[in-house]
Amino acid sequence: MAATAAGPAAAPPLAGTARRPRVAVIGAGFAGLAAALTLERSRCCDVVVLEASGRTGGRACTQRLSPELALELGATWFHGLGSDGQPNPVFRHAVQQGLIGSAPEGEKWWSSQFLLPGSSQPLSKAQQIAVTHAIAAWAEAVDELPRDAAGTTADHLRVAWRRLLASGRAPEELEELAQRAWRWREHLQRAMDGCNSTAEQSAQGLALYEEMAGGVHAPLPAGMQAVAEGLAAQLGDVRLGHAVSRITWGRPGGVTIACRNGATVEADAAIVTVSLGVLKAQHGTLFDPPLPPAKQAALERLQIGTVDKLFLDFTPPGMPAGTSSTRQSSSSGSSSSGGSEGPVVSYALLWAGPWDAAASGKEHAAGSRAAAPATSEDEAQLPEWARGVFSLRFGGPEVKRCQQAADQQQPVGAHGVGDGTEQQQQQQQQQHELQPEEEPAESEFSPCSEAAQPTCYQAVAWVTGAAAAAMEAASDEQVLAALRQLATLFPQLQLPPGASWDAVELHRSRWGSDPLFRGSYSYLGAGSTPADVAALAAPLFAPAGGSGGAEASGGAEASGGAAPVLMFAGEACHVKHIGTMHGAYLTGRHQAELLAAALAPEAVELPQQQQQPPM
Ligand SMILES: Cc1cc2nc3c(=O)[nH]c(=O)nc-3n(C[C@H](O)[C@H](O)[C@H](O)COP(=O)(O)OP(=O)(O)OC[C@H]3O[C@@H](n4cnc5c(N)ncnc54)[C@H](O)[C@@H]3O)c2cc1C
Repeated sequence: MAATAAGPAAAPPLAGTARRPRVAVIGAGFAGLAAALTLERSRCCDVVVLEASGRTGGRACTQRLSPELALELGATWFHGLGSDGQPNPVFRHAVQQGLIGSAPEGEKWWSSQFLLPGSSQPLSKAQQIAVTHAIAAWAEAVDELPRDAAGTTADHLRVAWRRLLASGRAPEELEELAQRAWRWREHLQRAMDGCNSTAEQSAQGLALYEEMAGGVHAPLPAGMQAVAEGLAAQLGDVRLGHAVSRITWGRPGGVTIACRNGATVEADAAIVTVSLGVLKAQHGTLFDPPLPPAKQAALERLQIGTVDKLFLDFTPPGMPAGTSSTRQSSSSGSSSSGGSEGPVVSYALLWAGPWDAAASGKEHAAGSRAAAPATSEDEAQLPEWARGVFSLRFGGPEVKRCQQAADQQQPVGAHGVGDGTEQQQQQQQQQHELQPEEEPAESEFSPCSEAAQPTCYQAVAWVTGAAAAAMEAASDEQVLAALRQLATLFPQLQLPPGASWDAVELHRSRWGSDPLFRGSYSYLGAGSTPADVAALAAPLFAPAGGSGGAEASGGAEASGGAAPVLMFAGEACHVKHIGTMHGAYLTGRHQAELLAAALAPEAVELPQQQQQPPM
């Protein structure tokens, strides 16, 4: 935010009135918090944040089980720590708040042991090579997507699949295994992008997504919600438990916001940061007058998928929460997640079924078994959604063992780069039993031959799309029973020492059915383009001199210099960083800067580059 030479001056009262302008920010996730902070710091207006739930952070949601142990039910990775030119604002705030535990990670992922249901043998070397080739071919297809790619991601993957078969790298006897590996990779892609299936995802949207520069992640012992709470603590007026039910905006001079608890807030403008899922489900009742047709059409085409996490806490009775087994993992399958968050043992589950049936997103639909038939009687007993569980991982950054992490805290280097990276890479390299000359092109998800026994008592499984929706509808008892049954199908899957399925606790997210989110993160759906994101983010102006619908317009200056009355921010409003915390933050900050400049142009002066949308 640029300000006058003497720093931001407090805005004068509104013309013809004795009061300062007031802006309501709806939602206290990263978009809302960034918007509110930016406005407060500009001193252009009074700010009130209205948040429906009893906490701040939104989809940054850390479930604290004890002082020593917490679980990230939502956002976990920074997805790039940023560079000097383009810092990741969420990481930067975490550093400023003293929350970064130790050296940032250089690695992108950890290697997994790939397991076949019913098999007590690790994959043979030939099978490992086939899986590695298959996974590398998927990555290549995604990396090669042109920025103007037509069609869906699955369209491009089908071409890549045929190329893989033609290359001889998935020979006939291993083709079925390669299908399983691609089915696993389809589920992983969904988890990464929030899409319910790659057949519903715009290939262009995926091609335009960009990670931030810098290492991927930095251990954050306190959890991501703490970063949001640190931001909220800097704000003057955050009202929790204020679920907005109606925003009346069609009259000149401001908005009237009604909350379910009976409160009413009058403001000159509002910045709406509720999720795309909430907007899709509720825009008809939330806005009076209704949103303009262009915005409604964008809401229709943009999509938000469901990605859920299932945590299993195997801490043996009598052992304090947050402890890990003292037995050190020595065999090849355990890899460090870097920093302080402990060794990771990850199992990738190779369910049967053609990958593009998975891509169609239909294989977990209720009653559907045709696309991915169960291969054994035991498997047939599983509820269909459980075959959407594609990995089970002990440890990793979603498990916050706070005390241990605090003990190991190390300072972060000047640019947020620690010195553990090379060592981690060497360790990872040693974990592959394949000899270098036999090894196919290295992929970030290459398999390891055999997993060590886990030492962390907390495991996480991810489930997406229709399977996630079915999981959310099941009871805790049903989910636990299904996961226990699933584990019996993979004889190589090990529990930590002393752990038992008879003493396990389940903690899980339900992002899809939660009325405050209605989904996990957004993506450009099939047929959607970046223009939809721009239409969603476009500010709205009150019609001159009366009530009635107002049309969206392209920028704050488009209404003859009048300030917008409704603005929209959130992760769905950013093309390059869609689906991320920093994407949400950047849109909130940008909209607030535009609004501040429109409300008090004499106090706030935008530099040239900040007048462009941050897309
Ligand atoms: C499982 C999962 C894993 C993720 N992993 C990562 C990750 O590793 N890295 C990453 O960068 N991102 C990740 N994300 C995405 C990231 O969490 C989001 O993109 C980001 O937090 C969204 O911020 P936001 O401010 O746009 O929306 P939200 O965080 O959804 O904030 C909107 C707020 O509005 C509130 N609200 C809703 N309705 C109303 C109403 N009627 N009145 C008032 N308030 C209302 C909500 O309670 C919420 O607090 C993940 C998300 C999920 C669900």
